[in-house]
Amino acid sequence: MDSLPYDIIYKISCEINDVLDIISFKKVNKELNNSISSYTIAKKKLTKKHNKPVYYVNCINANCYYDTCEIFEDYYNEYHGRYIHYHQPSQNYNYIKINNKMYNNVFTPYCVECFKNFVFKSNIDETRIVDNLNEYFVDIIYS
Ligand SMILES: [Zn+2]
Repeated sequence: MDSLPYDIIYKISCEINDVLDIISFKKVNKELNNSISSYTIAKKKLTKKHNKPVYYVNCINANCYYDTCEIFEDYYNEYHGRYIHYHQPSQNYNYIKINNKMYNNVFTPYCVECFKNFVFKSNIDETRIVDNLNEYFVDIIYS
């Protein structure tokens, strides 16, 4: 046997994630050319584009500065006389704690306070939520 079976070539092509690598793999010879379809290449291109992690520098709430000003000045930094409030950074991938259970790597483009306001407090009756007021991650209890 002087060539690989088609199913092994197909398996190898499925393991190659980089688009340029799979095109180079296809160009190796004509036999591979038939077993790697252009559909596979298009799928890899879309997958690469789709799975690209998105990171935000600042919270995507345009009014974040005004919406979070009171809590940061009056509670989190109550005794820091020189605190200057700013548009809060986005959480991106952070953990959240709901009903004393931790959830890791939850993606959100919001900062902690805007995430609580727009995701929890706008969808759940506020009387059922106990906000544990943590500056660095979401920590709520709801019943
Ligand atoms: Zn915000």
